[in-house]
Amino acid sequence: MGYLKNSDRDGTSLPLVEEFFTIQGEGYHAGEAAWFIRIGGCDVGCNWCDSRFSWDPLMHPMVETDRIINNAVQSGTKSVVVTGGEPLMWNLDYLCAGLRKSNICTFIETSGAYPLSGSWDWICLSPKKNMPPVGNICLEANELKVIIETGDDFNWAEKYRSLAGKGCLLYLQPEWSRFKSIIPEIVEYVKRNPHWKISLQIHKYMHIP
Ligand code: SF4
Repeated sequence: MGYLKNSDRDGTSLPLVEEFFTIQGEGYHAGEAAWFIRIGGCDVGCNWCDSRFSWDPLMHPMVETDRIINNAVQSGTKSVVVTGGEPLMWNLDYLCAGLRKSNICTFIETSGAYPLSGSWDWICLSPKKNMPPVGNICLEANELKVIIETGDDFNWAEKYRSLAGKGCLLYLQPEWSRFKSIIPEIVEYVKRNPHWKISLQIHKYMHIP
């Protein structure tokens, strides 16, 4: 993967993979309409990643953040989900300030592998073993969403439950390609540990992005 110059990292332009109006499919806000902004760049390297096309930021155009904000405003959305890639590879202060100034709620989906920037109405933290979260993001997260690929991942989920703040919502989400084999284990786990809920990727059932 190539890296961009630091001067490109002030957040006034961002490598934009795609932006679209859809229905959030995962976690607490599943079923809600939202404008998605997918930012390029990720070196976390999850083997089951379904957005590998976003990994190399050099494959995506640097777009002025003002334009990204304006597109969100023009969509008429009430909330924006910033995702990736790993969006925290970038300084998101400017993006969030512009969205909030336009009365748009700011939500982020992140692994937490890079320092937190931006101001957020909702932080969904999905910690990854390859590059665990840094800083205080566990305490800041509104929602902890752990992807379950194998039975070993329940221990990983419990580790991050113990690090999360009081009131953080807890979700286990089956890894999509392992759904059939892993969902029975997740169901049994949640029956025994009801502080967790199950998150399904309902956008995939609706065949929407
Ligand atoms: Fe893919 Fe997200 Fe993992 Fe990056 S952190 S490899 S974008 S699933």
